[in-house]
Amino acid sequence: MPEIYDIAIIGGGINGCGIARDAAGRGLDVYLCEKGDLGGATSSASTKLLHGGLRYLEHYEFKLVREALQERERLWAIAPHFVRPLRFVLPYMPGMRAKWQLRLGLFIYDHIGGRVRLPGTTNVRLAGQALGEGLASSLKSGFEYSDCWVEDNRLVVMNAKAASELGAVIETHTAMTAAKRDGDGWSVTVSLGGHQRTIRARTLINAAGPWANDIVSRTAGRPARGKVRLVQGSHIVVPKLYAHDRCFIFQNSDSRIFFTIPYEGDYTLVGTTDRDFDGDIDQFSATEQEKAYLCNAVSRCFDKPLTTADIVWSYSGVRPLYDDGASAAQKATRDYVIEVDEEAGIGLISIFGGKITTYRRLAEAVMDRLEPLLARDKAKLVAARAGWTGRTALPGGDFAIDAFEEQLAALRARYAFLPEEQLRRLFTYYGSRLPLVLGQAKSLSDLGRTFGAGLTEAEVDYLVREEWARNAEDIVFRRSKLGLNMRSEDIAALDRFLEGKRQSLAG
Ligand SMILES: Cc1cc2nc3c(=O)[nH]c(=O)nc-3n(C[C@H](O)[C@H](O)[C@H](O)COP(=O)(O)OP(=O)(O)OC[C@H]3O[C@@H](n4cnc5c(N)ncnc54)[C@H](O)[C@@H]3O)c2cc1C
Repeated sequence: MPEIYDIAIIGGGINGCGIARDAAGRGLDVYLCEKGDLGGATSSASTKLLHGGLRYLEHYEFKLVREALQERERLWAIAPHFVRPLRFVLPYMPGMRAKWQLRLGLFIYDHIGGRVRLPGTTNVRLAGQALGEGLASSLKSGFEYSDCWVEDNRLVVMNAKAASELGAVIETHTAMTAAKRDGDGWSVTVSLGGHQRTIRARTLINAAGPWANDIVSRTAGRPARGKVRLVQGSHIVVPKLYAHDRCFIFQNSDSRIFFTIPYEGDYTLVGTTDRDFDGDIDQFSATEQEKAYLCNAVSRCFDKPLTTADIVWSYSGVRPLYDDGASAAQKATRDYVIEVDEEAGIGLISIFGGKITTYRRLAEAVMDRLEPLLARDKAKLVAARAGWTGRTALPGGDFAIDAFEEQLAALRARYAFLPEEQLRRLFTYYGSRLPLVLGQAKSLSDLGRTFGAGLTEAEVDYLVREEWARNAEDIVFRRSKLGLNMRSEDIAALDRFLEGKRQSLAG
């Protein structure tokens, strides 16, 4: 552990972990603390799309859309195991945006820059076609275009993993409680289970997402100049609405859009809502009103009504958007703003806003702002390695985009005892590192105890040892979504198993 870190990052969401990876790969001494689980807040509550955001074109956010579209394919290339292309169907809906408006938006989306491998827009017929199965009869045709899907928590954890393999110190369940200027840096007090400790760092990076304002006032001793606008977004998971693999992007009667996305085999993910949030950021969930809103939206587009009784699971997050003064929550910018705090003395960088899709570019922008604050030798290092994160695979992703099936086939031969569905899921999560999870196993029983839904002791051990997982929720609702197919008693048994493990390690 160095006597003084170059940077201390507060927050282990996608932005904090992305910055940690970039900085550690440029030779900096990095410390990151996360008060809960990695990606435990907004970064695991997203719609899980790597997208330019078709609707941001209506707000003239061309720079954001272009940058995000470029990132979409770049992230696919560095994480081909848990990023995959998706086709979206945008139905034409009488009384909503005109056909020519949709076509024009998609033309810009296809040609604004950034689309290299993904197929472009096509016209599609829905009426009488498998694609239109279950849809309201008024939806007869539309357009199909491309974006990508990402397992959001995997992206966060693999950035943290890469950072730690490059020497970064990552501490979870560790909250930053105070920080004060101290000679040429900061003294940062962190608390793990009530036990306080101080570390020193030259620069503080505030990547606390919805808590960013709180961190500014704790460190700079004054309210933040830039402001976070908290906007809640909720999703519901319901039994599969249709058999095909396309997502729909529908326009709702309030001119918002929402998605239906095939999810975890047997389900459809529906989201999202967009409402200003003024509750307790440490404790909230999807409201009954939001659930009803999403069910009503689906019911207008499908021939069978959806009710809140159909909901299998829901999750909710708060977007830490930059407050640009927009009147409606859905109109607030999704772009990021980086604030270097001069009043607090050099060395406090705060992040406001952003998207999962653009986290890597945000990390690069933070490195640019950091460079002048570093000693000359470190600044040189930082400049020399600019852009490296877009050229280097994330852990497990060191194979070509089009080699997914080939890699999977090789593992199928090696682990022939695994059911196909389980193997595919494991490869999607761990990619080329799957042998580190399964080891020399020759049969299912070699993987130890099973907890349900294909979760084995070998995988649980790996997640605890290598991926900072501590409790059942980390494993079955964040690192995976296996909890959807597990009984509550299986999840409780997993928690008891993990507690027993912790006690035997402590004893
Ligand atoms: C409903 C919804 C849908 C979305 N869909 C998409 C999408 O499809 N595609 C996309 O690109 N983006 C999407 N986004 C946006 C994206 O999820 C966010 O921009 C991104 O996750 C923000 O990441 P973050 O790291 O800034 O914040 P967070 O993930 O919230 O991380 C901040 C972390 O800081 C920690 N922290 C706070 N205070 C302290 C402290 N004192 N000490 C230590 N740690 C602390 C918190 O515990 C938290 O884990 C969506 C957002 C929402 C809410």
